[in-house]
Amino acid sequence: MPEAAASRSPSRADVIVIGGGVIGLTTALYLQRAGRSVLLLAASEAGEGTSAGNAGMIVPSHVMPLSAPGVISQGLRWLTRRDAPFHLKPQLNLAFIRWLWQFRAHCTAAHVERCIPILRDLSLASVEGFDDLAAESDDFGLAHTGLLMAYHTSAMEDAMGHEAEVAQRAGLDVRVLDSAGLQAEQPHLRSRATGAVLYTQDARVDPDLLLGSLRRRFEEAGGEARYNVTVSGVESGQVMLSGEALCAQDIVVCAGAWTPRLLPRISIQPARGYSVTIRSPAESPPIPMILMEDRVTMTLMPGKLRFGGTLSLSGFATKVDPVRIRPILDEARRYEPDLNTDALPVWSGYRPASPDGLPFVGRVAEGVWVNAGHGMMGVSLAPVSGMLMSALVTGTEPPVPPAPFAPDRLRAR
Ligand SMILES: Cc1cc2nc3c(=O)[nH]c(=O)nc-3n(C[C@H](O)[C@H](O)[C@H](O)COP(=O)(O)OP(=O)(O)OC[C@H]3O[C@@H](n4cnc5c(N)ncnc54)[C@H](O)[C@@H]3O)c2cc1C
Repeated sequence: MPEAAASRSPSRADVIVIGGGVIGLTTALYLQRAGRSVLLLAASEAGEGTSAGNAGMIVPSHVMPLSAPGVISQGLRWLTRRDAPFHLKPQLNLAFIRWLWQFRAHCTAAHVERCIPILRDLSLASVEGFDDLAAESDDFGLAHTGLLMAYHTSAMEDAMGHEAEVAQRAGLDVRVLDSAGLQAEQPHLRSRATGAVLYTQDARVDPDLLLGSLRRRFEEAGGEARYNVTVSGVESGQVMLSGEALCAQDIVVCAGAWTPRLLPRISIQPARGYSVTIRSPAESPPIPMILMEDRVTMTLMPGKLRFGGTLSLSGFATKVDPVRIRPILDEARRYEPDLNTDALPVWSGYRPASPDGLPFVGRVAEGVWVNAGHGMMGVSLAPVSGMLMSALVTGTEPPVPPAPFAPDRLRAR
C-alpha cells in the first residue's frame, strides 16, 4: 500500500477543531450543539495555557481597541522604563514587521470610532452567552461584579474620565467614583487608588473552572478531544499530525498566538503577560480591578485572588523577567504582606494579538476556518466567538454581523 494512503485516515468527526483553549472549546461546543460531530485536537494538556491563568474579566468596558491614537508614543516612552506595563522587543522577522506596520496603520481616531459599536455589541452578546451557559450549569464562577478601572494620578484620572465618556456615549452604564465612592464600592481595598471608573456591565469568571466546565459539557455530549497532539499543517479537508493525516469536511484553527504557524497569512503576534495567584484573604475586595498606571489587574475568584499584568511583544520567550513582574508582586504583597515570592509560581501566557484589535473569525479557504486573535479579551469573547464560528460553518444566522472579523480584512495593507 502506498505510504500516503496508509497514513490518511478519515476522522469519525465532520469538523476538526485545533486548539483546546477557551476559543477552541467554545467553538467545539457550539458546533456540536449545531448538530456537527467534532474532534478537538490540542498541543497542550487540558486546562493549560493562556486561557487558564488569566484575569478572568468579562469586559464590555473594553470598547476601545489597543490600536488607538497615542499608543505608539506612549509605548515609545515606556521603552525607557524596565518595569513598564508595555514592552516591545524589535524583531527582525517579516511577520513581526508586517504586524507592527498594520498596527500602526490602525492607531487612528477613525478606527477607534469604528470599533466602539462593534466591540460593544460583540461583548454584550458574549455576556448573554455566559448567562445562558450559567443557567444550564453554574459551575465556572460567573459573577456580575462590574469592573473598576482605578487610578492615583491626575493624568490617569483625566484619561479614564475621557474613556468613561466614550463608553457612556456608546450606551454603557458607567459611574465615576471619587476616593470615598471607591472605598464604599470596594471594601477591603489596600491599593493606593484615589478614584475609579466603575463599569457595571462587566463581570468575572474563574478561567480554570471555565475550561473544565466547557470541556465537560463538550465531552459529556459525545465530543472527542485529544490533548498533547501537535498539528503540523492544515489543508482543505485535512490536518497533518506526525505520521498521520486526519480528514474532515471542515477544519477550524483556534490555536491562539500559534495560529500563524498553521495559517501564515493570519497576522497575530504573541503578547506575553504574567499572573500570580494567592489564597484569598478573609477580607478581599470583591470587584475586579485594573490599576491603570501600572496596568496591574486584581480579580477575586472562588477561593483565590489573582494579580496579573504586562503586555510584552517579544515573541515566544521562555524566561520570566523578574523586573516585569515586580509591579504585580508589589500589589499582591499588599494583600499578603508575608508573601514568599521565591516560592510563588509565576504563570505566563501569550495573548493572541491582532493588529487592529478585532479577532479573526471566518473562512480562510475551502473547508478551512479560523477563530483566533482575541488579544486581551479571549475569555470575555469566547461564547460569542464560538457561536459566530459555528453559525458561519453551518450557514445559520450569526449572532453579530461577521464582516468586521473577516480573516482577509487586512490583506490590502
Ligand atoms: C496576563 C493575562 C491576563 C488576561 N486577562 C484576560 C481577562 O481578564 N479577560 C479576557 O477576556 N482575556 C484575558 N486575557 C487574554 C486571554 O487569556 C486570551 O485572549 C485567551 O486565552 C486566548 O484563548 P485562545 O483559545 O485563543 O488561545 P490559547 O488559550 O492560547 O489556546 C491555544 C490552543 O491551541 C493549541 N495549539 C497551538 N498550536 C497548536 C498546534 N499546532 N496543534 C494543536 N494545538 C495547538 C494550544 O495547545 C492551546 O490549546 C489575558 C491574558 C493574559 C496573558
